[in-house]
Amino acid sequence: MSGILTAIKLREAGFTDFAIYEKADRPGGTWRENRYPGVACDVPSHLYSYSFAPNPGWSHVYSPGPEIQAYFEDVGRRYGVTESVRFGEEVTRCAFEGGRWQLETRSGTRDEADVVIAATGVLHHPNLPDIDGLADFAGACFHSARWDDAVPLDGRRVGVVGTGSTAVQIVSALVDRVARLSLFQRTAQWIMPQQNPPYSEAEQAEFRRNPALLRHIHDELSRLFAENFSNAVVDAESPQMKLIEEACRANLEGSVRDPVLREKLRPSYRAACKRLVISPDFYEAIQKPEAELVSEPIQRVEAGGVRTRDGRLHELDVLVLATGFRADRFMRPMQVVGREGTRLDELWAERPIAYLSVSVPGFPNFFMLNGPNGPVGNFSLIEVAELQLAYILQLVELLRAGRCREVSATAEATERFDVARTEAAKKTVWTTGCRSWYLDARGIPASWPWTFDRFREEMSRPRLDAYEQVP
Ligand code: NAP
Repeated sequence: MSGILTAIKLREAGFTDFAIYEKADRPGGTWRENRYPGVACDVPSHLYSYSFAPNPGWSHVYSPGPEIQAYFEDVGRRYGVTESVRFGEEVTRCAFEGGRWQLETRSGTRDEADVVIAATGVLHHPNLPDIDGLADFAGACFHSARWDDAVPLDGRRVGVVGTGSTAVQIVSALVDRVARLSLFQRTAQWIMPQQNPPYSEAEQAEFRRNPALLRHIHDELSRLFAENFSNAVVDAESPQMKLIEEACRANLEGSVRDPVLREKLRPSYRAACKRLVISPDFYEAIQKPEAELVSEPIQRVEAGGVRTRDGRLHELDVLVLATGFRADRFMRPMQVVGREGTRLDELWAERPIAYLSVSVPGFPNFFMLNGPNGPVGNFSLIEVAELQLAYILQLVELLRAGRCREVSATAEATERFDVARTEAAKKTVWTTGCRSWYLDARGIPASWPWTFDRFREEMSRPRLDAYEQVP
């Protein structure tokens, strides 16, 4: 998503000498990798689109994953980006030496660049659970982002570990196909209800005829999303936050009939403390006779299935690990070496640090899209990347105009930002008592803790006094 965006915007800005490296053989990032049954985006499709490439053909308000993958491939082709991507080239190292970035790929290719932009995504590296005996399982076992299409599911006994956005979508999609679906829940999740109506042919035709309408819908959705959601989660006591909590509570009370199951599904923390799960049909799915919510902790995996602490063996043919991602990895395992041999891995040993999520002190002319401490979660990461890229291109412009040869955030500005965002994070709903991928090793939310409007404002123009510019 952000690599295609970068290529389009670089070209628009008049840059022609650039290369895009992609380790896979197709574009699409998260939408290429997540092919599990039921995969969809819970950001409205007309918002989850590039602002400059609206799509009149979205089938639903929240469209399924394969449609989103097709959209990115289509935009890449239409804007002439795909043919300039170097597929199958995984960058393993980039080092700032002699005033330029030296790149190496796994296949041995070497390249040199003035500027490097890491458009490598956030939720990318599967988090494999440390469950005893996992390797002993005799059936098929895979992470949700490594779906094995060769494994039959129909009429089989399927176990799903995890209750995040991914697991919820898998359960809803599979329950009617399998003989038995066991959902292993370590922590219950609040579920925000959300209807997902299809767009009629007449509506799609109208979108095609009227591009201004599509732009208006995009901007309106963005505004509503910021007001009602993004700005709510950063102020745990806001009235909008109370509305979200109320909607989740009413969903649980109104949808789950069996009081025992209802209590098992009731989280012990506040809604949106973890990344809010949005689903039109999860409660319905988990109440079907084929489904079982297993809230007893997993003791170990055995050849025949999952044994829970109460001694019961849940016999399974397939075990899906919907256990999330290592959200602090970013472009790693790529080795990034900055000025004077500083290694990013060492600088980030405790936690990723960056100024405004785009620049790292000591790493000149190196920028990140959707890097550490940016807005994540229920935002449209496309909008985030567009704003960040527009900001980064203003810094790159300093280089092109010859105002300096090297530009990177100062250590002081980065430290100030880190202290301020850590302080602001205390007010967010993410710190109200839950475990989640938003929290770093110290339990501090690693995402943007202010409003989306403030993010937009910060991204509108770099404050140059926060940057070291080497002539
Ligand atoms: P996730 O939200 O991190 O959830 C991981 C789940 O696995 C949690 O329920 C976690 O339990 C459980 N888990 C992890 N390790 C475990 C272990 N050792 N034993 C038992 N359970 C374990 O991951 P995700 O569902 O893949 O979602 C990640 C993010 O991707 C989402 O938050 C969202 O931002 C994005 N996403 C979006 C969509 C969408 O747009 N619809 C769909 C999918 C994903 P605990 O809660 O106890 O830690």
